[in-house]
Amino acid sequence: MKKKHVIIVGAGASGLMAGIMAARNGAAVTILEQNEKPGKKINATGNGRCNYTNLAMPENAYRGEHPEFVQEALSQFSVSDTIEFFKELGIYPLDRKGYLYPRSGQAQSVTEVLCMEAANLGVKIKTNEKVVSVQKKTDGFRVLTEGWHYEGDVLILANGSRASAISGSDGSGYELAKRLGHHIVPVWPALTALKCKGNFFKTWSGVRTEGKITLFSEGKPVVTEQGELQLTDYGVSGIPVFQISRYAVRNIKEGRDAEIIIDFMPELSADEFRELLLKRKRTCPYKNDRELLIGLFPEKLIRIFAGQKDLVRAVKSLTLTVTDSLSFAQAQVCSGGVDTREIHSRTMESRKCRNLYITGELLDIDGTCGGYNLQWAWSSGAAAGVHAAADI
Ligand SMILES: Cc1cc2nc3c(=O)[nH]c(=O)nc-3n(C[C@H](O)[C@H](O)[C@H](O)COP(=O)(O)OP(=O)(O)OC[C@H]3O[C@@H](n4cnc5c(N)ncnc54)[C@H](O)[C@@H]3O)c2cc1C
Repeated sequence: MKKKHVIIVGAGASGLMAGIMAARNGAAVTILEQNEKPGKKINATGNGRCNYTNLAMPENAYRGEHPEFVQEALSQFSVSDTIEFFKELGIYPLDRKGYLYPRSGQAQSVTEVLCMEAANLGVKIKTNEKVVSVQKKTDGFRVLTEGWHYEGDVLILANGSRASAISGSDGSGYELAKRLGHHIVPVWPALTALKCKGNFFKTWSGVRTEGKITLFSEGKPVVTEQGELQLTDYGVSGIPVFQISRYAVRNIKEGRDAEIIIDFMPELSADEFRELLLKRKRTCPYKNDRELLIGLFPEKLIRIFAGQKDLVRAVKSLTLTVTDSLSFAQAQVCSGGVDTREIHSRTMESRKCRNLYITGELLDIDGTCGGYNLQWAWSSGAAAGVHAAADI
């Protein structure tokens, strides 16, 4: 019997996973990758170490217009399935407080084992093949690259998003999905640093400090995160900022305001902090405001706090207006993408176009920092691969 031919656009995280699963389930698979090698973005993840999943799966790990969409794929190919899958391929997990990395400390190991398994299964990975157009035919798809064309029974779009300059992510997947009848929820940078209004940022640039950051819009709190903040010459960065950024960016782009309030001493209430300052003043009455803060905050931050009328307010609730984020090229992921209402959540098959599957970040799903975006790529890729091979 002739094997079903599955064509996958993109040899990134979800495309490689889909290719392996489709081949394991009996399909002939061709992956078309625009770059000179597969998995370029995987190689850059986790600062080159690849945080490939997380033992904790909090309810709010995923965002999108319909975040519950992720549940079926995540339960079919779960975190423990991911750990087992990669163990079998050779990736021994290193557990850092529940965040899993390959023990080699190299993201490249993940790409390498995926490519080896794909090759072993006979998956063809064609590099330097940018897909420019796709056509639905009665019995399959015609996929056009810049210099060639391919015919397949099933098509999986695994192009990823517009985020990051590393892998040449240009968002071409959104155009291909649109041409096949899909609607795109507007796409914006997420997991990114935020630019703010103000003229003192040069003073605090370079500081890394513990803090709690709350995003407000129209006077209401939207989301709060705590951790190490990185203060920059344009505003704020660091993991807590990344976590709230998708909401701040979407607010601004949709014409709402976005204010952040930073608490630089989250371990104490405002009253406790006021009391601490009074006690420090009683012990060392010769100290001025600036000197009272020495030993509590880095010197660059003290320069900003000491100039304010109300010291407690400056430390506990410094308020900034967000004006923008850094560019797509500097973001780790994007929010927005193919509307998940148009996709079957169990299989990743399109409801608009039979035998078309869409995976990973191309869909309107973005995860928080901590391995959740790759986990989504593995789970959605696995679902698409298995089902693409199975039904026709
Ligand atoms: C710097 C950085 C660090 C990150 N760290 C982490 C982390 O530690 N943990 C985590 O969970 N997530 C991390 N992420 C996010 C994670 O890498 C992505 O969410 C994940 O790779 C998305 O998988 P994907 O398969 O959807 O897309 P990708 O992995 O981006 O793969 C898409 C592939 O499709 C190719 N392609 C696109 N268009 C075409 C076309 N027209 N023709 C042919 N090929 C095409 C691209 O070149 C690419 O190889 C990080 C992202 C960045 C940028």
